[in-house]
Amino acid sequence: MGLTQMGCIEVVCGSMFSGKTEELMRRLKRAQYAKQKIQVFKPVIDQRYSTDHVQSHDANKILSTPVKTAKEILDRVDDNTRIVGIDEAQFFDDYIVEVAQKLAYRGTRVICAGLDLDFKGQPFGPMPLLLAVAESVTKLSAVCVVCGAPATRSQRLVAQTETIPAENDSNFKEGQVLVGAHDYYEARCRICHEPNAIMTSQPGLFPNQMKSQIQNSSKQNNKNLAEIG
Ligand code: ADP
Ligand code: MG
Ligand code: ZN
Repeated sequence: MGLTQMGCIEVVCGSMFSGKTEELMRRLKRAQYAKQKIQVFKPVIDQRYSTDHVQSHDANKILSTPVKTAKEILDRVDDNTRIVGIDEAQFFDDYIVEVAQKLAYRGTRVICAGLDLDFKGQPFGPMPLLLAVAESVTKLSAVCVVCGAPATRSQRLVAQTETIPAENDSNFKEGQVLVGAHDYYEARCRICHEPNAIMTSQPGLFPNQMKSQIQNSSKQNNKNLAEIG
């Protein structure tokens, strides 16, 4: 490649467990083979695992910088960085779009991974805007744990149990954010997804009994597949 690189924005989206973080890491690792300097950022809201790594559900890790705001990314990108990875992009404010655009105009390849839909099946935060300005969009699906079809949605299994900072951020609709993985959400297809079927959290009834309550009330009755997950 020549001295100048044309920047671009790539978005990797999909439901929880669809492999967004895996795909982000795959692209970043390939860039490392090409000896291109990468930097990875994620919002501090995502405290599921360690705070200085991006980690997929299958425990692959890559070093990342936690940031509180989108603007902080611009401040922290080094001049010689060729590729900027941003995980959990849905949690940033709309300014993330300007950040991605600025970096891309500067010649940086920006790869954003994030949930396109929240647990209600509604567009999540700045993702629709990012998708619109991106050069490339990859929409991944997980496997619906109820029926086995491709899953495009994230089923929340419990009511809000933790208050986390971004809940107070006016950018998010009330209750939109509950960070967690297997205990709180599962991947479902459009038909099995029940946006309004959130059980009230009860200590001791969490999460497996709730899961079966929800699944029993589900429109799908494929018992064998419902056991998976
Ligand atoms: P995302 O970042 O989209 O939430 P990850 O990249 O962290 O997803 O994890 C994807 C991995 O999650 C898969 O490779 C698989 O091992 C695991 N997984 C767990 N549940 C499911 C599911 N229902 N469908 C597909 N993969 C699943
Ligand atoms: Mg992820
Ligand atoms: Zn399904």
